[in-house]
Amino acid sequence: MKIHEFQAKQLLAKFNITVPNGVEVTDVADVRRVYDELEGDIVVVKAQIHAGGRGKGGGVKVCKSADEAVAAAEAILGMQLVTHQTGPEGQKVRRLWLEEGTNIDKEYYAGVTIDRKRRMPVLMCSTEGGMDIEEVAEKTPEKIHTATFGPDGLDGVTANQLVLDLRVHPELQSDFLDIIQRLTKAFLALDCDMVEINPLATSHELDVIALDAKMSFDSNAMFRHPELEELRDVNEEDPRELEAAGHGLSYISLDGSIGCMVNGAGLAMATMDVIKLHGAEPANFLDVGGGATKETVAKAFALVLSDPKVKGVLVNIFGGIMKCDVIAAGVIAAVAEIELNVPLVVRLEGTNVEIGKKMLEESGLPIITASDLDEAAMKITEAIKTEAV
Ligand code: GDP
Ligand code: MN
Repeated sequence: MKIHEFQAKQLLAKFNITVPNGVEVTDVADVRRVYDELEGDIVVVKAQIHAGGRGKGGGVKVCKSADEAVAAAEAILGMQLVTHQTGPEGQKVRRLWLEEGTNIDKEYYAGVTIDRKRRMPVLMCSTEGGMDIEEVAEKTPEKIHTATFGPDGLDGVTANQLVLDLRVHPELQSDFLDIIQRLTKAFLALDCDMVEINPLATSHELDVIALDAKMSFDSNAMFRHPELEELRDVNEEDPRELEAAGHGLSYISLDGSIGCMVNGAGLAMATMDVIKLHGAEPANFLDVGGGATKETVAKAFALVLSDPKVKGVLVNIFGGIMKCDVIAAGVIAAVAEIELNVPLVVRLEGTNVEIGKKMLEESGLPIITASDLDEAAMKITEAIKTEAV
């Protein structure tokens, strides 16, 4: 689960990480009053969406007067903000965060995530703050300093070494060290899967201050943090993923053109791999799990079809606990309600497979059947190619 920058900053502040003073604004009419409340002449107007790269996309404006702040808020609030993380359609800006400007001296990067290879949380720091860190990692990997840490967070010796490696201004080394240690503690305490401060700035007034913050939580640990649940902003989430979750189904939106309805996470991964092997890309995958009824299967199938990226559907079910006839009944029920205007390949195997196949045959639906996964993936990739011509 992701949260907004201003929410992440409020959480980081609880761990004694310095963040600028700010106020959330959802109405341009409040901007002038908020500008006056905030200290100093410089106020930064920032779009709040669950994606980075807002600065480059026009979603962050440093303003030197109330008039400028009002103009920036008018331009940003309601805009469809496009960044390298939103996709070409962008994301609508519904909230702003107005904060006191900082007199930046240097911009650093500090982020924590899980290092899958080392199976440990890892802190990454760089002098190349304010830039896209993926780009830094690709072009100048030597400029990223990393350190893994255990359940107590980053130890003092390692933290000190990082501060020296980054050549932090001598007067700021102690504050900087505290902040990176606190960041690792926040990551652990909140069960994050990612926290990022970019930029972590040092100011001419000798502050070390988090000017931007990104945070996401491990959804499997959310039960330990009921207080975080209210930070959820459903406007920022994929509507199909939300609807699926409401029906107890796992649905993941992807970028390709083949909709996949499967049962079990392992079969989902295998199905996507084989689709790619045959030169196509999955548009999504929906895991109906083991206990789905005809109604949930119908709902699931309708969800997969409702994605306009879907140019063909592959149903790949290995019926163990899930019975093939239930899947067939669900698909038939869904197609009775919504028009099936893309090719559909079905591969069923397992419990009640014969009954399921017979039901599909007798339904009169234009279904292409396949007897194994490879054949199914090949047939659906062929079918969407033919459609496209
Ligand atoms: P992002 O583009 O979504 O990562 O948004 P950021 O919050 O990182 O803002 C983009 C850039 O705006 C930062 O890298 C800073 O260079 C700049 N910025 C943010 N806050 C301030 C500020 O208080 N003062 C100044 N001068 N620049 C700022
Ligand atoms: Mn940033």
